[in-house]
Amino acid sequence: MSRILLVEDNVQNLKLATVILRHEGHEVIPASDAEEAERHLAANPPDLVLMDIGLPGKDGYTLTREIRRNPALAHIPVLVVTSFAMKGDERKAREAGCSGYLTKPINRVELLSEIRRLLPNASSSPRAGRPGPEDPSGRSGAGGAGK
Ligand code: MN
Repeated sequence: MSRILLVEDNVQNLKLATVILRHEGHEVIPASDAEEAERHLAANPPDLVLMDIGLPGKDGYTLTREIRRNPALAHIPVLVVTSFAMKGDERKAREAGCSGYLTKPINRVELLSEIRRLLPNASSSPRAGRPGPEDPSGRSGAGGAGK
């Protein structure tokens, strides 16, 4: 389980991402704007930041740059999840220092796979009782018709 700071001003997206992450066994710290996120980052840095770009006030690019410039926070993976889906937007996010970039609508499989990529050492939730068909270790029913 990891502590994930979820920076998202849209209530529906916040709820959806929270459900997905908690179901996976992660602790979710919600922040609906950059200022709230900064308070959490200063008080108790998370293992990963899920970053919306369009926020009231300071945007996600700016907050990502600030994280990268702060020696106490610079190591934290920042995964951008945004509806800004033009090519230039991804470049801007990469230049700001994000570690991954996903576009909305939020896709559960993509989101969890990116988080696993960025937090390779975090053992995820207890697997018992999680019969997800896309569980990478779930070999039991490997009866797939062999590609
Ligand atoms: Mn937003």
